[in-house]
Amino acid sequence: MALNHTFIMIKPDAVKKGYIGPILNKITASDFKIVSIKMTQLSKRDAEIFYAIHKDRPFFNDLIAFMSSGPIVAAVLEKENAVDDFRTLLGATNPEEAAEGTIRKLFAYSVGENAVHGSDSDENSLIEIQFHFSQSEIFSEI
Ligand code: UDP
Ligand code: MG
Repeated sequence: MALNHTFIMIKPDAVKKGYIGPILNKITASDFKIVSIKMTQLSKRDAEIFYAIHKDRPFFNDLIAFMSSGPIVAAVLEKENAVDDFRTLLGATNPEEAAEGTIRKLFAYSVGENAVHGSDSDENSLIEIQFHFSQSEIFSEI
C-alpha cells in the first residue's frame, strides 16, 4: 500500500500538562514519520471552521472554547494506511472507552479534553492539512 498522510493536533489540555514530548515519542515509535509540525493557537474562528461539521452538536460551544484556550501542536504524519492506523493508535473519543496503550487511554482526561485529534478519512485529512499548512511547510508530496 502507498504511503499516505493524516493530520493530527495535540490539544490544549495535553500541551498544558507537558505531554508534547511523550505523545510525539509514541507516534514516532509507532512508525509514523512527521513531515510537518508547528506549535500555534487557534482563534475561536479557526476552531469554528475546523469543527464546522459539529456545529449543531450540544458540545460545540465548549469544544470551540476549549480548542482555542491555549497552544496546540499541529502535525502531518506519513505512513502506510496513515488515517486508519492513527485512529487505532489514538483510541476511542471517550478515554474511558479507549483501549489499553492508546494515546487517549494514556493521556486524555475526558471525552472533551481528549489530548489529541486525528483525521477520520483521507478526504478530511487533506482538507485539514491544507487548513493548517502551506505547501512550503510540508516536507513530503501530499
Ligand atoms: N466531543 C465532546 N463531546 C462529545 C463528543 C465529542 O466534547 O460527546 C469533542 C471531543 O474533543 C472530540 C471532538 O469533539 O475529540 C470531535 O468529536 P468527534 O466525534 O469527531 O471525535 P474524534 O474524531 O475526535 O474521536
Ligand atoms: Mg472526528
